Amino acid sequence: MESGIIVLGGGPGGYYAAIRGAQLGAKVTLVEKEELGGTCLNWGCIPTKVLYRNAEILNTLKNIDEYGIHIENYHIDVPKIQERKQNIVKQLVDGISKLMEANKVEVVYGVGVLKNKNTILVNLNDGGQIDIKGKNIIIATGSKVSIPAIPGADLDELLTSKKILDFTEIPKSLTVIGGGVIGIEFATIFNALGSEVTVLSRSPNILKRMEADLTKRLATSLKKKGITIHRGVQGKKIKKENNKFVVYADTKKGEIRVESEQVLLSSGRKPNIEGINLEGVGINFDKKGIKVNEQLETNINGIYAIGDVIGKNMLAHVASHHGITAAENIMGIESKMNHEVIPDCAFTFPEISSVGIKEEEAKDKGIKYKTSKFLFGGNGKALALGESEGMVKVIANEKDEIIGVHIMGPHASDLIHEGALAISSKMKIDDIAHTIHAHPTLSEAFAEAILGLKEEAIHMI
Ligand code: FAD
Repeated sequence: MESGIIVLGGGPGGYYAAIRGAQLGAKVTLVEKEELGGTCLNWGCIPTKVLYRNAEILNTLKNIDEYGIHIENYHIDVPKIQERKQNIVKQLVDGISKLMEANKVEVVYGVGVLKNKNTILVNLNDGGQIDIKGKNIIIATGSKVSIPAIPGADLDELLTSKKILDFTEIPKSLTVIGGGVIGIEFATIFNALGSEVTVLSRSPNILKRMEADLTKRLATSLKKKGITIHRGVQGKKIKKENNKFVVYADTKKGEIRVESEQVLLSSGRKPNIEGINLEGVGINFDKKGIKVNEQLETNINGIYAIGDVIGKNMLAHVASHHGITAAENIMGIESKMNHEVIPDCAFTFPEISSVGIKEEEAKDKGIKYKTSKFLFGGNGKALALGESEGMVKVIANEKDEIIGVHIMGPHASDLIHEGALAISSKMKIDDIAHTIHAHPTLSEAFAEAILGLKEEAIHMI
């Protein structure tokens, strides 16, 4: 089989690359061993956000009296939750399949291995083998769960981010090992579903990629919701004792023992670099991922690598943007990846999002900066929603350019894009201050935070 571009892996990196390559006139073949949409659609972003919506509704129901609505009784129907999740995933995966057809991308289902610089050998899922030859190859094999190196972490019954999605019962108690985005999202979901949740975070703050000012507030808020968080702890061993799991961990104050019905291992992910013969073809990589240049090309001319497998910002939208960048470079459009302005979101209660520089980073880099914060408590729409916890924090440099935007509050994951646009377009304070924001909207909180940089915010005392 001959192709212009062979894409190895059909996740958000691979399928975007395939479509963009096809749009630009390439004959594209995509090799996928499981499901189109990869981790994101099948076992990551989408199923977790479906469950997040369940949790959101439950959190509203818990406070429903506040809205003047009284509901006597409700119960959680786990099979129905699972059915809804599966239907949404299926709808999206089927959609990708149709997009492949519409763009004339040939999809081959099987496990692909690099045979040489221009050939992928595929062990077909239906049996047999084929060689696919192509001028260019894009490696988009993604990442997998990294199991922590502590005794007992290999116990079969422990949950990973993939296994936990198919829960058939809500665990009475759940210990989450890992205070990163995936761990904290599951902690908030299962807290809302009624589990007693304990988080063990190695770093001193949860969600360490986000603005510390906000994550500290989030930790307080999660504790109020009943989630126990131990920070700065080092897991030591996991044992099964009397039908329960017990995690032993070291803290500054000594050893702690956390007992629960289920344990979720969520201490990180590692790139899928094994079993694809990178060594054989001479591609540079290490355990953090495949090495690429700004065009996302590896050291081997014509072979590109994108998404989680390069180990940088393991996010679906980054993988997708990588896909577009690699395909454009292959098709002669000069395209570079900018890793500086990447919105990052955590779907917690309240949501947290972040783009650009954090205050600590600005300090470390010796940047002269100013900050301003606007609390959602002063925003009419947030109050009407009954979700006024949190704030918008903005950072500008001495040229008045916006360099960082950090949001904790309702729809923070949607609101962050005005900040991303401001930073990527090097907008100044006045560019935003002179842009009318509709009323009553959550976006007004962003406008007010910006005005605060000039000490001209209207609803700030
Ligand atoms: P993947 O999506 O992992 O796709 C790789 C594909 O390659 C897979 O389909 C795999 O089957 C296939 N493959 C691997 N090896 C081979 C081979 N040898 N032959 C053929 N096929 C192969 N990101 C966000 O931006 N927002 C979120 O809300 C979010 N939530 C997440 C929640 C969870 C629980 C998890 C685990 C991840 C989440 N992520 C989220 C991260 C996101 O899913 C990944 O960053 C994204 O899927 C990476 O895309 P990718 O294309 O690089 O790899």
